[in-house]
Amino acid sequence: MSSDIEDLRREIDIVDVISEYLSLERVGSNYRTNCPFHPDRTPSFYVSPSRQIFKCFGCGVGGDAIKFVSLYENVSYIQAALQIARRYGIRLRIKEEPAEKAKILEVLEEVARFYQRKLKESKEAVEYLKGRGIDTATIRRFGLGYSPSSEELVRFLKEIGGLEVYEKTGNVSKFGEDKFRDLFLRRLVIPIKDQKGRVVGFGGRTLEGEGPKYVNSPESDVFKKRELLFGLPEAVGYMKDLGYAIVVEGYFDVIRMHQEGFRNAVAPLGTSFGEAHAKILSRLTKKVYLLFDGDEAGRRAVRVAVPYLLREDLEVYPVFLPEGKDPEDFLKEEGKATLKEMLKGARELFSGMLWEIKEGKEVEAVVKDFMYFVSFMRDEIKAYTLISELSRATKIPQEVLISQKYKRVEPPKEEEGPRLSFTERVFLKGLMELKPRINLEELDLSPRVRELAEAILREEYYEVPEEVLNLKVSDIKGCFEEALSRLKIDIPREEVSLREAVREWVRTHRGGIRPFKRRRQRLET
Ligand code: ATP
Ligand code: MN
Repeated sequence: MSSDIEDLRREIDIVDVISEYLSLERVGSNYRTNCPFHPDRTPSFYVSPSRQIFKCFGCGVGGDAIKFVSLYENVSYIQAALQIARRYGIRLRIKEEPAEKAKILEVLEEVARFYQRKLKESKEAVEYLKGRGIDTATIRRFGLGYSPSSEELVRFLKEIGGLEVYEKTGNVSKFGEDKFRDLFLRRLVIPIKDQKGRVVGFGGRTLEGEGPKYVNSPESDVFKKRELLFGLPEAVGYMKDLGYAIVVEGYFDVIRMHQEGFRNAVAPLGTSFGEAHAKILSRLTKKVYLLFDGDEAGRRAVRVAVPYLLREDLEVYPVFLPEGKDPEDFLKEEGKATLKEMLKGARELFSGMLWEIKEGKEVEAVVKDFMYFVSFMRDEIKAYTLISELSRATKIPQEVLISQKYKRVEPPKEEEGPRLSFTERVFLKGLMELKPRINLEELDLSPRVRELAEAILREEYYEVPEEVLNLKVSDIKGCFEEALSRLKIDIPREEVSLREAVREWVRTHRGGIRPFKRRRQRLET
């Protein structure tokens, strides 16, 4: 007999399962004992056979029998289910996923090799790389490739029996009967690997003109952009040895950095640097250098990344390159010795700010930044030590500084509030990028958007959701103007028909929405 987890849950008895680990005492229709998950002097751990759950009234843990085993044995839920099933002689039919995922990874590996072979045959692609100063050792190290034709790729996929499974990655798309298009067609292909070095997706760069400069594999079970760092498997060893990581912005920055000997460099995949990235780095190193372009966008990117890094107890070293230069340009023009010097001379974030204060640079703004950033530090003792240093440097009493401490400590929840409309996203993105002079009071904004807009104006980007940070609009100026006009409060009362007014009144009295103001049309994607 085979069953899935749902069936397993029905077949087992939680009292039996837990009794194998703990001795339970009967009280009425329930059982109790001392909780194994926290120091417990009185029995506050209860098991209910009728509801098939356990619950500790001391520490709050609770759940079903499988959850108990997973907590007690410190294994995943699935692993726990498998263990219980084995004990009860039940054959568990877990979803096909693991086998399928392994197959997808195998095919991705093969496709990466296919692209690599094709690169050698493409004069154009080889010339392109040569022109960018990328040498053959680097091409091999990163497994760079080229996609010459969708038909060839599909023929290859059929040969290895991987077409069907490969379709699930979204890297090829089907149109019509047995016709496919490779997402990376006529692009230079950059394999993206997970930490273990397995190919999980690709980035593709145009050689010439047409289409967006880069495309990436679509999100899927194997390709999760926000949990990947380009260059990570190549950099891991060096990060550990050197004791720090370097974060840059683009694929070619990583590639060039490695070629020039900075082999601890990684980059997010065209998204902003976020929580998952910081968590990954915190397991590998203690210090992170952020090596970004010194322009507006680069400075903003640093402000976005820093809170996540501090939350993971990492030391941050922001390093800004001359405006308009990314690390690749800088290395080409100035050479690696200069970059090495720059990294060596970099100041840690907080010492840097203390130094700026001593130099008398815009003290007020620096103090605000200091307190904003310090609020994210996990280690309270370190945080308060820094605050007392700041107090000494500025003569501002500590209590006053502490009252400035930013209130937020937990990361904003993914699904907090309703999703933003396209207009709202464009508006917020424009606010970040264009820094226009506008009066928020003249706009009809939902409370959440208003809050986000205010945070952006204070350059506190931490609360700004990814759907805004990672929004890519080709003409941000034009779109922003358009969004602004949609958000302006400009509908005079007289124009509101009676029916509208009644509807509005009903809505207001139900949901607490301000009357007459929310009649803007939304431009949805
Ligand atoms: P190059 O040097 O090849 O022109 P870059 O890496 O300097 O590119 P940027 O424009 O600075 O290019 O972009 C940085 C990163 O952002 C890229 O490496 C890529 O990951 C991502 N990216 C850029 N443009 C796009 C796009 N149109 N779509 C998706 N991702 C993009
Ligand atoms: Mn570049």
